[in-house]
Amino acid sequence: MRPAVKAENLKKSFTLHHQGPAFITALSGVSFLVPFGSCLAVNGPSGCGKSTLLRCLYGNYRLTEGSLRVSHGGGFLEMSEASEREIMDFRRHSVSYVSQFLRVIPRVPALEIVAEPLITLGRSREEGLERAREALSRLSVPEKLWKLPPLTFSGGERQRVNIARGLIKDPPLLLLDEPTASLDRKNREIVTELIIGAKKRGAAVVGVFHDREVRERVADGVLELLPPAGGGRGFEPGHAEPGGADHGTPASGLAARATSEQGWAPRGQIEPKKAESGMAEPKDADPASGEIEDLKISAGR
Ligand code: ADP
Ligand code: MG
Repeated sequence: MRPAVKAENLKKSFTLHHQGPAFITALSGVSFLVPFGSCLAVNGPSGCGKSTLLRCLYGNYRLTEGSLRVSHGGGFLEMSEASEREIMDFRRHSVSYVSQFLRVIPRVPALEIVAEPLITLGRSREEGLERAREALSRLSVPEKLWKLPPLTFSGGERQRVNIARGLIKDPPLLLLDEPTASLDRKNREIVTELIIGAKKRGAAVVGVFHDREVRERVADGVLELLPPAGGGRGFEPGHAEPGGADHGTPASGLAARATSEQGWAPRGQIEPKKAESGMAEPKDADPASGEIEDLKISAGR
C-alpha cells in the first residue's frame, strides 16, 4: 500500500537554555511507515516523546536528525528540509492536527473555529459554517454553545470542538493527540467511528490513544516508544532496551520500530545540528495554532 509517512531514524533533541545549557533527547532512532488507509498508534509512558513525534509530523518541531517524509502535493515533503512556506502549504492541504487541548481564541465562537480550516482551503464561508454545524451536531456539542467562544466549555466539549475542527477538511493525514482523553463513553464511541471512517476514506492516521479499547479498534500497528533511559533527568543516554516492539501488521504493510537510545543527555553530550527551541511555549500549548516553534515563524490559524 502507498505510504503516507516514511520516518527513518528520527531524532529530536531540545536545548534547555536556562539550565546550563542542557540537552534533552525526546526521540531517538525512531523509524516507521504509515500507509494510506491505516492507523499507527504511538504508545509509551509519559514523557517518552509521543507528542514530540506528532509535532515533528506537523512541522512544529524541526528534527535534529533523520528523515521524515510526508505525502504532499502528489509527492513527498521532507520535513527536515522543508521551508516555512512548504510547511504552511502542507498544513493547509495535507494534514490535520488534533492537539490534546484546544487553543481558545477570545471572542471567536466555536462554529468559526471549526469552519476555519475549510474556509482557509478556499471554500465559501457558508459551506464552511454548514459543514461545521454538521460536525458539531455529529459530536453532540449542544447547539446553544455553537455561537459562544469555547472559553467556558467543559474539557469534553472543548475536545469535541477540537476534533470537529480537525476532521472537517477530510485530510489525507490525521494527527491525533489523545483525542478521547476527556470524553464520556458515548462520545468516545462517536470519535472512534469517525477515525475508522477517515481510514476507510483513505486517510493515514497517527495517533496517541490512552484508551486501550479505542487503540485496539482503530490501530493497525503500534509504535512503542521507550521510556527515557534510566527513568529521567541526569542519566546517561544510549542504553535503553533495543528494538521497541514491532507490532506492524504485515497485511497493512505498516511497520513500526523504535530502537536505540532514548533519554537525557547531560550537558555537552549531544550536539544538536540545528538551533533548538528552549521551552519557547508551554508544553501543552496548541501546536495546531500555526506557530512553528523551532522555525520561529508565526502565521494565522
Ligand atoms: P509524551 O507526549 O510522550 O508525554 P512529550 O513528547 O510531551 O512526551 O515530551 C517528551 C520529552 O521532551 C519530555 O521530557 C518533555 O519535557 C520534552 N519536551 C517536549 N517539548 C519540549 C520543548 N519544547 N522544549 C524542551 N523539552 C521539551
Ligand atoms: Mg503528550
